[in-house]
This record gives sequence, C-alpha cells and structure tokens, in this order.
Amino acid sequence: MIENSSIWVVSDVDGTLMDHSYDLTPAKETIKKLQKFSIPVILCTSKTASEVRVIRKELNLIDPYIVENGAAIYGESLKRVNGEIILGIEYELLEEILNLISIEIDYKLTPLNNLTDHEATELTGLKGNSLNLMRDRHWSMPFLNPPSFLDKKITNCCKKFKVDIFKGNRMSHLLSRNSNKGKAIDALKKYSNIKNIKIIGLGDSPNDLPLLLNSDIRIVIPGKEGPNLNLIDQLNDLEFILASEPNGYGWKNEINKLLNKLEIN
Ligand SMILES: [Mg+2]
Repeated sequence: MIENSSIWVVSDVDGTLMDHSYDLTPAKETIKKLQKFSIPVILCTSKTASEVRVIRKELNLIDPYIVENGAAIYGESLKRVNGEIILGIEYELLEEILNLISIEIDYKLTPLNNLTDHEATELTGLKGNSLNLMRDRHWSMPFLNPPSFLDKKITNCCKKFKVDIFKGNRMSHLLSRNSNKGKAIDALKKYSNIKNIKIIGLGDSPNDLPLLLNSDIRIVIPGKEGPNLNLIDQLNDLEFILASEPNGYGWKNEINKLLNKLEIN
C-alpha cells in the first residue's frame, strides 16, 4: 500500500527492471525484500496496462502502476478514484496530431500500432498475444523513431501542437503535455496524501528523465553496452547513482545497497 510507507520505489520496466529478453528473474528476490518492509514498488513504464498486469502478477505486486509513459495510473487500491487516474489525452486525438506533425515535417511518422505482426516482432521482440497486449493503448502514441535530422523540426511541432515527444532507444512516444512519468508520480503523491515521501527512482533512457528528476535518489541503469549517454547528458550536474551492472542485476544491487544503508535489511 502506498499509504503505508514514506519510501517508494518507482521503476521503469524495459531495460531497467528487466533486459530486452524480458527476464524478470534477477530483481525478484529484492522485490520480495521490499515487500517485506512494506515499501511499494510502483512500476512506471511506457508499456500498456494490459502488459503491466502480466508483470505485476509474475512479481506479486499490488501497488499502483503508471503506464503509457505516465499518461495513466491504475491500481486496485486507488479506491477514491475508482482505480484509475488519467493524465493523458485519447489515442485517437494523438493519432490526429501525429498526422498533422507528419504533414508539417513532410515525413510520414508511423504509429507502432500500424505495424504488421512481423514488423512489430522485429522491433520489440514480442510475439503472439504479447503483441495484442502491447497494442491495447489508450492514452499515448508510440511511433517509429524518425531520422535525427528531423529532431529540430519535430521539437518545433511539439510547441505548435502543445504536445511532448520522447525519443527512446527503440521508439518515440507522443504524449499530452500533462502526462509524463514525473507528472504521474506527482499525481500519485497527491492522491496518497502523505507528506515527505522519498522516491527512489530507477530508469535507463531519456523518457525516464521526468521520473528521475522527480526522485530523491536517482538510479541510472545501464544496458549491456553501458548507460544511455543522452540520459546522462540531460541529468547534467544532478546527483545520481550509475548502477554497476546492467538491467535487473544493476537494479537488484543498487536497491540492496540502499536497503543496507537504511538499516532495514
Ligand atoms: Mg526503459
């Protein structure tokens, strides 16, 4: 329960809690330890609610979860809001905005949901029913990364259409300006009514920047080839911990170290 603790772990999923082969094993024991101390583990991801439900089940998590890059928060325990807090705008509207941006930059931006099964598997490694879960989107719009030379034009379009675009390692995300991972954390804090919550935030790529900026302890998780330099760049001179191992192993090590420091291990 988020109300029972003034320390929250807020974690990205892909590339942070697990590697790109979707293995959750390394972090499992540490998550159990956190649960023993009633520290909530709030997943905060660009994935859909349908995808996260599978992961929560595997990890036995009951805490609220932030999905679609901060555009929606769900959780059985969010009773006063009927289990959901929505920050984003509807998929259909985002689709219209993506089309307008395509016209403006004279380059067809392709929503992830428009890919064939084969193309989507190539990009994400997901197959079969996992593809259906990934496509069950309502409040955000992932699309194929455009070439870098268009970055400036796209930034200008974001201003014009009052939206945000986060370029990730494998795809970009179009979001309403009122929704990102950091804003979702704020909304959840507000809902909980607890003062002085300390957030331990973990992420691996630039779409985690709002999450990390909104954390009291920031942990950057590297991939096998090292950390995302774009993210490191954007953290500037802010204090952060760079995990010494990639993905779930780095996650586990750094959280265990913190638990030791908090002397609740
Ligand atoms: Mg990630």
